Amino acid sequence: MIDQFNRKIEYVRISVTDRCNLRCRYCMPEHGVFKLAHEDILTFEEILTVVKIFAALGIRKIRLTGGEPLLRRNIVELVRNIKSVDGIEKVAITTNGVLLDKMVDALIEAGLDSINLSLDTLNKKIFNQITRRPMFEAVVSSLHKIIAANCEVKINCVPIVGLNDADIIELVSLARDNDIKVRFIELMPIGCASIYKGIPMSAIRNSIEEVYGHLMPLSKDELQGPAEYFSLRGFVGRIGFIDAIDHKFCSHCNRVRLTSDGFLKLCLNSQIGLDVKSLLRSGVSENILMDEMRRAIYNKPQEHHFENNVDKTKMYQVGG
Ligand code: SAM
Ligand code: SF4
Repeated sequence: MIDQFNRKIEYVRISVTDRCNLRCRYCMPEHGVFKLAHEDILTFEEILTVVKIFAALGIRKIRLTGGEPLLRRNIVELVRNIKSVDGIEKVAITTNGVLLDKMVDALIEAGLDSINLSLDTLNKKIFNQITRRPMFEAVVSSLHKIIAANCEVKINCVPIVGLNDADIIELVSLARDNDIKVRFIELMPIGCASIYKGIPMSAIRNSIEEVYGHLMPLSKDELQGPAEYFSLRGFVGRIGFIDAIDHKFCSHCNRVRLTSDGFLKLCLNSQIGLDVKSLLRSGVSENILMDEMRRAIYNKPQEHHFENNVDKTKMYQVGG
């Protein structure tokens, strides 16, 4: 559907849990993580009802995220059910990879089209330092598995001063022989991240070019989202950059979010949205729910204000 600023909204990111098996320093605190009560998290039936309404409103792509989405029991069946909804063309997942190794085949068989693996370093010591959990081997094993699998793969790295500065070039090298996308994402200064400093994308580009030569820009496709992609001479894969703050892409934003407790969040950096869970559980008809969702999406805010850091968003509750 088209919103008040003439943007075509066709992509929803659904957080299926606020739980996580890592504690990345820039995302979650080590202790005292607030957890939603189980009954406050949308059931799969509720998620599916909402996905059907999204599809009727013109949504074509769903991404499952979290917390860590693979911690949610029966996630494979959720993928299968979402993929079978009329109008949904693409189902993707964003995961830290800890549990992915053993689930990849089943997820792809269920219809998963695309996997985003969050990986900030290929250095075990740095990995353990960033994530505060000794899960490096499990993630690397998942990395190998998905590279060999029949689905789209994107590796997402958030470069942070003093954490993974030295690991960028090695991550880029993954795209040399593998048909995958290695993407660098600007750190958003929210929650636990506010004490860190993201490395500017311009600096990342410069260090890549120093080692691998000129980054050659590629044209965009429709559901690609905000990333800008480049090729490098001799590389099979692609390198991508997402700098939400330095280069605001709000005027082209095509997405909304559904939090694990059922709030339709219209912009990552805004509390404006719709309490879908309360409506669902109050027993309103699907037509009324659809009208409310249509109205909410139509009113999606014009742009984010991360530069003022006005929102209390926690990434692990919204899913990035
Ligand atoms: N646990 C899953 C994972 O890590 O892929 C999914 C949820 S996680 C919140 C989604 C993405 O958000 C990860 O790639 C993570 O690196 C990114 N992220 C978390 N905090 C961030 C921040 N402050 N700025 C930019 N990206 C962030
Ligand atoms: Fe968990 Fe993902 Fe946040 Fe890391 S980035 S703590 S894996 S939710």
